[in-house]
Amino acid sequence: MNTPDSTPSLDFIRSIITEDLKANKNHGTIHTRFPPEPNGYLHIGHAKSICLNFGIATEFGGLCNLRFDDTNPIKEEEEFVESIKEDVRWLGFDWEDRLYYASDYFDQLYKYAVQLIKNGKAYVDDLTPDEIREYRGTLTESGRESPYRTRSVEENLSMFERMRAGEFEDGSRVLRAKIDMASPNLNMRDPVLYRVLHAAHHRTGKKWCIYPMYDFTHGQSDSIEGITHSLCTLEFEDHRPLYDWFVNELKIFAPQQIEFARLNLSYTVMSKRKLMELVEGGDVTGWDDPRLPTISGMRRRGYTAESIRNFCERIGVAKRESMVDMALLEYSIREDLNKRARRVMAVLRPIRVVIDNYPEDETEYLDAENSPEDPGMGSRKLPFSRVLYIEKDDFREDPPKKFFRLAPGREVRLKHAYYIKCKGMVKDEKTGELIELHCTYDPKTRGGWSDDGRKVRGTLHWVSAAHSIEAEVRLYDHLFVKPDPSDEKNGSDFKDHLNPNSLETLTSCRVEPSLADAPPGMGFQFLRLGYFCVDSVDSSTDRLVFNRTVTLRDTWAKIEKTQKKSGMPGKRKKAA
Ligand code: ATP
Ligand code: MG
Repeated sequence: MNTPDSTPSLDFIRSIITEDLKANKNHGTIHTRFPPEPNGYLHIGHAKSICLNFGIATEFGGLCNLRFDDTNPIKEEEEFVESIKEDVRWLGFDWEDRLYYASDYFDQLYKYAVQLIKNGKAYVDDLTPDEIREYRGTLTESGRESPYRTRSVEENLSMFERMRAGEFEDGSRVLRAKIDMASPNLNMRDPVLYRVLHAAHHRTGKKWCIYPMYDFTHGQSDSIEGITHSLCTLEFEDHRPLYDWFVNELKIFAPQQIEFARLNLSYTVMSKRKLMELVEGGDVTGWDDPRLPTISGMRRRGYTAESIRNFCERIGVAKRESMVDMALLEYSIREDLNKRARRVMAVLRPIRVVIDNYPEDETEYLDAENSPEDPGMGSRKLPFSRVLYIEKDDFREDPPKKFFRLAPGREVRLKHAYYIKCKGMVKDEKTGELIELHCTYDPKTRGGWSDDGRKVRGTLHWVSAAHSIEAEVRLYDHLFVKPDPSDEKNGSDFKDHLNPNSLETLTSCRVEPSLADAPPGMGFQFLRLGYFCVDSVDSSTDRLVFNRTVTLRDTWAKIEKTQKKSGMPGKRKKAA
């Protein structure tokens, strides 16, 4: 199999850090953070940021914090905090004792706001939210100054104190920075620092009825924590001058913000708002629906942490937005499971096969290797008996050209077992539907090999009817039919592009008995079918449920050939 090839250079962020270390900037310390807002579950885009921040800290002997940017009391919930911690840990990263919340800094942020007021750099504004928007101007038109902009320091201090004391209604007053209403950068046009919001916060309870805006919180939180390199996505590029203005005016430690392109993946959506809409609208079964690009959904589907880390390493970081092909993600999990998954047999759409010349009450146990990739994984005993199941699709009454599987009069190999030859069919008298096949086996082909040199072209997977276990198998396809469902041109909504066939549930599958007590989450290769894992939510010993993680078909190998020519980002070399 081909693997995406290696480029030996450091990405641009690691190059900057290497230079900073050489120059002994910040006395040679490297401190990063992963700063999620707890308003949803993490997705594969966040994994990119997690791998980057924690990865850099490890590679350069630094530290990485986990910090919840929890400035919005209304959208944030404890459930999200817990899921985020679980996902970061599961991905293999450790914040040690450095778990922080922006809400821990509310007192300090309030003091910073007072400091700005005292320096004549912030004022309380009585304009309504609509008026503020109107006064703000546009990209081509400069804004207008609020009539409240010239309030005295004393009046501002007293008004801000009264905001805090709960004297004003939601939306009636804000604290704004006094910067420049004519700035070409809209973020610099007297941005709002604090708003009145009578709402309980998941951590500070009812202590506050004013809350700092994200922009007034993020940079200062980085500063308080001594974050040397604040890595964020490109949409914050225009906010950098504002963050720099704050730390400069407040005369506090100045982190260096570096922006990189967010991950976009084909055939899915990544924004938490959209994911929330799918969850709440019942289009999926929950945040951990295996069709979602959430970390919990991918884990449930059978993705391993290592495969996600490898994927993130492979896509690298760059300054330019691009769309990564879902096939690359699938390549990463195939590559990983190919090494670690035990091979087993399962029949998803069974048809009965009776071996007429096999004794009625006999069972024999055949040796079956667990992995051709790794002999160390050993072998198991597979029961073989007179009545078997094979895949319905593996038989054709009138086989077309190049169909090398079972057909009337034709001989095929049953994997690990015998050659069998099809002698007859039983059909339902009324409907004509095929009920069972009658075959004979050749006892001299035990193990699946003939010593007279006789060749067969097809090898089929199978299970013994009496020994196999019934299971439910869920087959997943892309959640959307369009590569870019978020492209809302022509007024279409992303939900218009949902794939109605993204889930197919098969309830009468048969799996080999060795799967009886497979633990939740464990992945297997079902021979000839793909990689599957035991569903961690719905599977039990009474009712086995498997999720298809990924098919065996490797479309990536093909895509890679074309991408190699066009200079697709390859695997990054570890920093020295
Ligand atoms: P979303 O738009 O999906 O809600 P967000 O940026 O609002 O994402 P946050 O919780 O604020 O979500 O993100 C935490 C960190 O993860 C931020 O540093 C953010 O830049 C980064 N991040 C979010 N989405 C992506 C992505 N698709 N690719 C890379 N990094 C991302
Ligand atoms: Mg955000």
